[in-house]
Amino acid sequence: MLSKLKSLFQDRCPDCNEKLHVESDSHRCIKSCPHQHYTEETYHHLNIRIVYRR
Ligand SMILES: [Zn+2]
Repeated sequence: MLSKLKSLFQDRCPDCNEKLHVESDSHRCIKSCPHQHYTEETYHHLNIRIVYRR
């Protein structure tokens, strides 16, 4: 159940379709492409999402 739920939040790089590497703590979640094409930072307490694309 937990793994199924988690898969909903997994994302893939829009450029190379590689699975994004995810780091998270209580303040933010960072998803990034292992090839540096794409980074997404989510700040939970601010309800802000920042996306970088290269
Ligand atoms: Zn990529």
